[in-house]
Order: sequence, then structure tokens, then C-alpha cells
Amino acid sequence: MHSQELWLTAAAASPLLSYFLGRFNRWAGLAAGLGLFAFASAMLLRGPWAPGPYAALAAWTAAALVHSVALNGRAGRAPDRARLEASLARAALLEKELSAVKSEATQNAAGEKKTLAIYSSVKLLSETVEPAAAAKQLGKYLSDYFGSEEAALYMAGNSGDPAAMELFASGGRGSALPPLAQLLTAAGGFPPAPVQGAGLLVAPVTAGGQALGLIAVRGGEADAAAAARFASEIAFALKRVILFRQVEWLSLTDGLTGLWRRSALDEKVREELRRAAAFKTTMGFMIADIDHFKRLNDNYGHQFGDAVLKRVAHLLKTGVYETDFVGRYGGEEFGIVLPRADAAGLRRKAETIRSRIEAEHFSQGLERVRLTVSIGIAHFPKDGRSPEELIARADAALYAAKDGGRNRVVDAGEI
Ligand code: GH3
Ligand code: MG
Ligand code: MG
Repeated sequence: MHSQELWLTAAAASPLLSYFLGRFNRWAGLAAGLGLFAFASAMLLRGPWAPGPYAALAAWTAAALVHSVALNGRAGRAPDRARLEASLARAALLEKELSAVKSEATQNAAGEKKTLAIYSSVKLLSETVEPAAAAKQLGKYLSDYFGSEEAALYMAGNSGDPAAMELFASGGRGSALPPLAQLLTAAGGFPPAPVQGAGLLVAPVTAGGQALGLIAVRGGEADAAAAARFASEIAFALKRVILFRQVEWLSLTDGLTGLWRRSALDEKVREELRRAAAFKTTMGFMIADIDHFKRLNDNYGHQFGDAVLKRVAHLLKTGVYETDFVGRYGGEEFGIVLPRADAAGLRRKAETIRSRIEAEHFSQGLERVRLTVSIGIAHFPKDGRSPEELIARADAALYAAKDGGRNRVVDAGEI
């Protein structure tokens, strides 16, 4: 290329330099563009040149340089700031939307956790054949649902009295909750609907107007509505557990007297004997049999006989410690297990029971009937080391008491 053409091209391209450099700084771009044009012009003018085309070139370059400055100015700071602000506003909006979505997701997760806790509780209560074994897991579900370790579920007992409800399951810190009596007082008795106050939430579990259970929670985020939902969902499954336990209870207890049946009492003998052997303590067992009960039945009728059995059962039950076990061993025969009783204490207790029944008046119309009992006692480890042996020795002692004239206590050690 001839140098003339080169300088011509350079002069014509100077606005391009201005344009591109001007992207960084429009005035620097302009200066560079002008510089290149001036230099190229100086070189051009050294050779032969035509004023007409050169004037056109200069005019074109000037216009292009002005345009490049204007163009880079518009693309410059001010419009950028507006765009930046718009983007920032958009970003803020997006962030807000994102956090809304996030919190909704967390809420959904929490809601799902609660639903799962309800579903699991119902399933557990519906399937368990051993409520005591299910209690721990149920306690976890309670904590999950109410968001508090201080959560407990009480279950109606056999009496139907709310004050006698039994603790069924509780969360890790369920024992920190006030006792049942206090919960009921705080709720103003067994509440018809969930009550909340002083950081405590107490909710009833009912079905068909029947009080089935009570939920107590301290802390957590569950409100009365959430508690009502949980209560209504588990109600029927809880009722099943209660019925199940009632059937079990009925099979273990005697319908007439409410005392343990023979099989249940024999089990207590085994249990307490094992415990006594393990802890190197003692225990006592006694069998009391009403004297000439057949005569009483014959003279006054079976109905009166039944009433007497109930009364004697009550006297026996109230005559021993609450930790002792009283059972109906046969028709008019009663067995009593006395954990940790020593031999002398066992004998004293039997004597007290005997004299208490002897002193009792059983009313039948205008008549006041009196009766006596014979009692055989056996002591572990003195008289027997196995449950069967202990029971057999007590039975033998009872026969000896009958043989000896009735209305007396005989110790297996004496025969
Ligand atoms: P003993 O002093 O030798 O014990 O005489 P007893 O009459 O008490 O003894 P026996 O075993 O001969 O009779 C027991 C009677 O108890 C027979 C039955 O009439 C009565 N009996 C057993 N179970 C019941 C019951 O559930 N209700 C009533 N009313 N009587 C019962
Ligand atoms: Mg008898
Ligand atoms: Mg008998």
C-alpha cells in the first residue's frame, strides 16, 4: 500500500480509536482519535493532496469523533447507574421471593413432620398389643408433634375417673411437667376443649363424650387448635388401647370382688419370690378361708353370701399395705402376697386380719351375722424356696388351722 493510502486510512479510522478507547473514558478516546487524525493529516499533507476530498475527510472525522463521544457518554456512568439500580431492585425482589419460597418450604416440612407424627402415633396405637412397650416411641412422636420434650399423654384407667388417669407416654422431659392433679386444677377440671395458660397447654382426648385421655405440653409452638387436631386423630386408636387393657384387666381380676384371680396372684407369688431371692429379702404368703361358709350360704342365700365375700375382700384389701397383693383364690378362699414381710410380722398381720373379720358384723335384714376365717401362712425363705412350695406350705397350714378348730392362724413352720 502507498503511504498516502495508509495515512488516509489511518485518518479515516481515527473515530474508531476514539470510539473504542472512549468505552473506558470518552475524553481519552476523543484525544486519542484527534491525535491519530492530526498525525495522519500531517503525514498526508506532506505529500500531494486535494483540498476537496481532505475537507470531506476532516468533516467526516469530526462528525464521527463527536458521535463517538456522544455514544460513549450515553453508554457511560449515568445510564449504568440506572440499570444497576434496576438490577439491584430486581435482585432484592428475587431475594424476597426466594426467602418466601424458602419459608414456605420450611413450613411445609414442619407441617409434614407434624402430619407424620400424628400418622405414626395412630398407627402405633392401632397396632400395639403391648401399650407399655409402645410408650417410649409414642413419647417421641408427642415431642415431634408439639415441638417440646415436655409433652405427656395420660390415658383413662379402669375407673373412668379423670383424676385416676395413668401416664401413658411422655417426651424426654415429660417428668418436668406438673403432676396430673395439678394439671387438672390448672385446667379447671377435665377440660371440654384445649386450654392454654401460664405456658401450659392441656387438651382432652375424647370420643363420643367419653374421656379417654389428656395431653399436657409445656413450651413448643403448638397452639390449642394443633392440640385439638392431635387429640381427635388419636382418639379412636387410644380407645382401642383402653379397651384392650380393660379386657386384659378383666381376665386378671375377679368380677365379684375386684381382687386378682388365682392365676394372676400365682404370678405375683413367682415375681415377688424372684425379687426377694435376687435382693436377699423376705416375703410372706397367706391363704385365708372363711369358716363354714356353706352353712352361711344355706341359711341366708347365695346373694348374701356374695355380699359377704365382697365385704371380706374389702376388709382384706384395706387390712394390708398398698404394695401387697390380695387375690381370690377360690370360692371363699383368699390369697395374700406380702413382699418384704418378715416371719413375725407376717404372723402378726394374719392375726390382725383374723380378729378384724371375727369382730365384723355382716347385716342381713335385721340379723347381724358374724363369721370367722382360718389362715395358713408360709414364709420365704423359711418355709419354702419355690413359689409352688410356698403356696403348698401355706395351704397345708390352712388345713391344719381347720383341723385345729378353725378361726385361727397356723404358720407353716409349726407343722
Ligand atoms: P370350711 O370351714 O371347712 O372352709 O367350710 P366351708 O363351708 O367354708 O367350706 P367348703 O369348701 O365346704 O364350702 C365352700 C362354699 O363356699 C361352697 C359354696 O357354697 C361357697 N361359695 C363358693 N364360691 C361362692 C361364691 O362365689 N358365692 C357364694 N355365695 N358362695 C360361694
Ligand atoms: Mg371355707
Ligand atoms: Mg374353701
